Amino acid sequence: MLQLLAPHLRIDRVEQLTLARLGELQLDALLLDVDCTLKPYRDEEISAKVAAWLAELRGGGIGLCLVSNGRGARIRRFAQRIELPFVATAMKPFPLGCRRAARKLGFPRSRTAMVGDQFFADVIAARLAGLVSILVRPIRPEEEPWFTRSKRPLERWFLRHVGVAPRRSGDRS
Ligand SMILES: [Mg+2]
Repeated sequence: MLQLLAPHLRIDRVEQLTLARLGELQLDALLLDVDCTLKPYRDEEISAKVAAWLAELRGGGIGLCLVSNGRGARIRRFAQRIELPFVATAMKPFPLGCRRAARKLGFPRSRTAMVGDQFFADVIAARLAGLVSILVRPIRPEEEPWFTRSKRPLERWFLRHVGVAPRRSGDRS
């Protein structure tokens, strides 16, 4: 039962999802969380490494869209700077924002992954939306607001118990 909520893959940094790796994973599109996934919470900019990674994926034809629970104006500014489409105020763990972003990109859901750092937002939203879920280790989580930080101990407990879920070729698309 818990496996239904488990991520399909756990990684340390988004840059590990190279074009070659996405090919192996049979993924055509990534929905990307913003805070603590692409950049530390307090920073406005992404690192040069993350910028190079995004450029590589874009060059390889991977569909990309930001999906953040952050408010519209802040996420819009960020999205415009890195020139990506976005869904703000996504209300993860509810799946609606992820579904909207996946529709925007137009790839099958079985070939679209939600990549994010929070179990109780990104992973659950991805699973409820029928997407592949990739959990990334948060970048500088000590900078997060208290309400996000307060969820981390429970999140660690869950993650110890849920492990990772297998991907089935028959998964909904
Ligand atoms: Mg995050």
